[in-house]
Amino acid sequence: MDLEFSPEHRQFRDELRAFLEGWPLSGAEAELPLEEQEQLFRERGIEAGYVYRNIPKEYGGSGQPLDVIKDSIVAEEYARVGAPGNRIDQGPGLLAPTLIEFGTEEQKREFVPAMLRGEVRWCQGYSEPGSGSDLASLKSTAVLDGDEWVINGQKIWTSNAQDAQYLFGLFRTEPDAKKHEGISYLLVKLDQPGIEVRPLKQMSGGVDFNEVFFTDARTPADHIVGERGQGWAVSRATLVHERNLIGNPNMMREHFDQAIELARTTLRDGRPAIEDPVIRNRLAEIEGYVRTAELSNLRQTTAAARGEPLKVMLPMMMNKLYSTDTMQKITSLAYELLGSDGMLAPTEEDVASYARTHTPSGYVEQYIFSQGPAIAGGATNIQLNIIGERGLGLPRDLRAPKT
Ligand SMILES: Cc1cc2nc3c(=O)[nH]c(=O)nc-3n(C[C@H](O)[C@H](O)[C@H](O)COP(=O)(O)OP(=O)(O)OC[C@H]3O[C@@H](n4cnc5c(N)ncnc54)[C@H](O)[C@@H]3O)c2cc1C
Repeated sequence: MDLEFSPEHRQFRDELRAFLEGWPLSGAEAELPLEEQEQLFRERGIEAGYVYRNIPKEYGGSGQPLDVIKDSIVAEEYARVGAPGNRIDQGPGLLAPTLIEFGTEEQKREFVPAMLRGEVRWCQGYSEPGSGSDLASLKSTAVLDGDEWVINGQKIWTSNAQDAQYLFGLFRTEPDAKKHEGISYLLVKLDQPGIEVRPLKQMSGGVDFNEVFFTDARTPADHIVGERGQGWAVSRATLVHERNLIGNPNMMREHFDQAIELARTTLRDGRPAIEDPVIRNRLAEIEGYVRTAELSNLRQTTAAARGEPLKVMLPMMMNKLYSTDTMQKITSLAYELLGSDGMLAPTEEDVASYARTHTPSGYVEQYIFSQGPAIAGGATNIQLNIIGERGLGLPRDLRAPKT
């Protein structure tokens, strides 16, 4: 086993580290609003070839030759210094790679560059009331009327729809086909008379989820991704990117390092909590999980770099399952370390930062937030079933009778 990077990759890491010394910005640039600073640094990252590496230049990426080891070095180094790299919201994180794979030339040119720059925000309209785990049972319809689709129905749990201008979603277009074969993947403008977005308030106080209602809403006929009735296959591609994002070990490491810092700085009976053998034990146990995730990630990266066919579904599913579970362990420990500060309500900044603030209320937000990813992108029970049945060939789970 050779765990050394090649001279080329070591040099790449050195150059990247030098580039990342430019973050945080300094001088007059440091006075800009944070979002503008992030966008500025992101654009520098695109120019230097580090950000959106695998998206061609004509669609706004940096169009670098495929190199999964460089990709993983970039992800690691950006996470280490907390610099803004690829946007991870639904547009750039999920839809952009899906459009690169399945979209038409017009769709790629029209939509991808603006979503990468963050100028047009997207949300994901899959789940419906009663169609979450059993997504293929979805009922919202789209009917072709001349050169437009006419859409009716309802989506739910639509993250960030309140800030989005467009939705990519699944709609039933072939009512007589089998349930998986009757679905199409459509791109829909939200700001139109037939669409109402209603926010859902969460227990953390944040409002990230929405219900989206469609009443004779319209979208052009060519805003379909993939073929008519083939939306299920397209949506599986998006889901792989979603599970990859959730299963990212760098985020786990970032949160774990913060928990260690918290244990160092929190006092228990007048001594730093990290000196308490029970806390040390738990940290050591979690370190084992985090290292396993990192090594597993390296193993997958090595296999991909060698061009070995990865059984895509199984490792991705395992990554997601493992990372959501470990993140819950990390955030529970941090939450317990807070003691009575654990009663603090998360601030707006904690919520808006996607649980990345390192304040007592920020750790409360991390704890609350960590419950969600185990459900998003396919709940844990469903992941276990798929890994067991399709990955390991175990007998199928009992199905409830259809009454
Ligand atoms: C943080 C977060 C963000 C989300 N963002 C989006 C978004 O942007 N767009 C979107 O479309 N959706 C989004 N969702 C919704 C998400 O996809 C669904 O919540 C998820 O698919 C589960 O569906 P459900 O909520 O309807 O639960 P259900 O399907 O009703 O499941 C309820 C429980 O029953 C279990 N269960 C169900 N069926 C089985 C079975 N056959 N065997 C064993 N156990 C089973 C599940 O594991 C779960 O524990 C988001 C959810 C979360 C938590």
